Amino acid sequence: MNGMIEFERCPSCGHGSPIRLAPPGRTVDTTLDLIARDPRIANLDPIEFSALSDIDFVICSRCALIFMPRRPTPEAAKRYYSRLFHRIETPLPFDELPLSERFVRRKGAFARDLIRTLDQHGLLESVESVLYVRCNAGEGPRLLRDDYGLREVYALEFLPSCILHARQVHGLEQVERLFVPEFDNPFSRNRFDLILCDESFGHAHDPVRVARLLADLLSDGGRIVAFNEKDHLEFLKSSKLFPYGMNFFHKQLFTRRSLRAFLEAQGFAVEQLPHPTVGKSESRKNSKMLYLLRPGGAAKPEFPSDEVEPLALAFRSWLTAYRWRNRGQRLLSVFRTHGVAPGSGGAARRRRPPARVGFSRK
Ligand SMILES: [Zn+2]
Repeated sequence: MNGMIEFERCPSCGHGSPIRLAPPGRTVDTTLDLIARDPRIANLDPIEFSALSDIDFVICSRCALIFMPRRPTPEAAKRYYSRLFHRIETPLPFDELPLSERFVRRKGAFARDLIRTLDQHGLLESVESVLYVRCNAGEGPRLLRDDYGLREVYALEFLPSCILHARQVHGLEQVERLFVPEFDNPFSRNRFDLILCDESFGHAHDPVRVARLLADLLSDGGRIVAFNEKDHLEFLKSSKLFPYGMNFFHKQLFTRRSLRAFLEAQGFAVEQLPHPTVGKSESRKNSKMLYLLRPGGAAKPEFPSDEVEPLALAFRSWLTAYRWRNRGQRLLSVFRTHGVAPGSGGAARRRRPPARVGFSRK
């Protein structure tokens, strides 16, 4: 398929013969299905839309990585990624200016906690240049500049509205568009002492390539902070977290151990730091990982093959719960006078989903 990559082997450890997770003859619904009939994204030349939405997830029997075996190349994704991101994430209030105060406040609160954690671990000492990937309206870069006195702060972001906010409200000049979570970007000629990456490995179309590009962007002694990466061994146990199908942007579903093993296999020495919590600390949304990466001196990766069974089980339980929820929603919509219009991803997301059915947490 033009513009697509097939991962017949695991994109983390290279092991072959991954195990399918969907029942025979079926595929896994993703958030892409929310907007499947939207005319604005239906023709994603050069990729056929049906090829994008016909998705299976498989699990590697060696390192327990769940991944999408068929996906667009980074080059092909450049043409549509931002458009799709925008449509799927609607109605998150970041599409228009001024950005909603609540959105900016939440991003600011998270950035403050993240940067405080880095400061407490001495990671801002003798740092001169920083690249903040997916800066969410520039709150993090602003703090690094204003509260921590960093002189060279660069940032990348998917959405034009967030870039404009960062430039106009915070006066950040070095904010540019990120077209796909890969790092061929206007700042690629620079070398950075610190790179902050929001969920860059889970979203990567080619994770090994992302690891290499990031390492190439570092100055001597530079470090990478990978944050907002999800531990899916926990995350998948809450059907509430993916009520509209698996997140289409999650190309790899890492766990704490499989992400560490992947990063070590790429040559990084890995240190775990506490991830800032958002909302209730016991929420499964807080099973996120924050890893500090230094090129060189990596430990020998230990691939967590003992996680294959529980993770596959968690995924299939989520799939069953999702199907029941989906069936329930369709039944209910028959009785609603204001049923979900095709392509109205926004309305579908806004509506509170029905109670969980047929799902037991064990
Ligand atoms: Zn593997």
